[in-house]
Amino acid sequence: MDLKGKTAVITGSSRGIGFAIAEAFAKKGANIVINDIVVPDETVESIKAYGVDCIGVVADISDFEQAKSLIDAAKDKFGSVDVLVNNAGITRDGLLLRMKEKDFDDVIRINLKGTFNTIRHASKIMLRQRSGAIINLSSVVGLSGNVGQLNYSASKAGVLGITKTAAKELGARGITCNAIAPGFIKTAMTEVLSDEVKKEMLSAIPLGRQGLPEDVAKVAVFFAENDYITGQVVNCDGGMVMQ
Ligand code: NAP
Repeated sequence: MDLKGKTAVITGSSRGIGFAIAEAFAKKGANIVINDIVVPDETVESIKAYGVDCIGVVADISDFEQAKSLIDAAKDKFGSVDVLVNNAGITRDGLLLRMKEKDFDDVIRINLKGTFNTIRHASKIMLRQRSGAIINLSSVVGLSGNVGQLNYSASKAGVLGITKTAAKELGARGITCNAIAPGFIKTAMTEVLSDEVKKEMLSAIPLGRQGLPEDVAKVAVFFAENDYITGQVVNCDGGMVMQ
């Protein structure tokens, strides 16, 4: 897909990986819908500075109706929904034996059901258009599991199931659906980890550095631009997890 003039909706994109993806698509000439729980005006303005149009839509994507309002807002403003990036996600880490039920439910509701919600609404529009690219943020721990992240790794493994099934169901109408599995990326999500955990994670990365949001954004652009790749997972992790 040539991204110039297309519409890209990116959930959870007021910061971190989502914002880097919004910037990368804007640099390719796509109009951007920034979604988050809070969307500062400056965030929208900083995307417009790339010479594209941008709107901010506050919506909790774990709520089915709010997810619909996000997709509707994109379609109303720009007339199409060409790219959907399911990036919004949370962690609520803890060992299995101590994990609170609410922490399990919240992570599944936002990371997994939120991904279903937006795809459910956006795919209706993409099916009519007979084109579209859906990109889901999974995680390497969705492939490998991780101590203290039972809820998160379950949600991210579920995202891979959604990705492959949506790819099979939507492919006949020219819609691709792929997943990115980042490793250890420098954002607010990983800043909260202890120095000890950070050191341990770094030692497991053959390329010897923490990833940047921009590294992940390059994979999102790659998937959106390629119309003949679907149902795939690309790890963006410096070699942390090799399959
Ligand atoms: P981040 O800095 O925490 O950004 C995530 C954004 O999503 C936040 O702005 C957050 O808002 C928003 N969000 C949370 N719940 C939402 C909801 N229900 N509706 C709309 N927006 C919501 O995280 P990140 O590190 O950039 O991660 C982005 C994605 O990559 C996530 O899916 C994450 O699981 C995945 N990932 C990250 C890493 C990593 O190392 N950073 C590794 C593997 C996978 P609030 O501030 O209100 O929470």
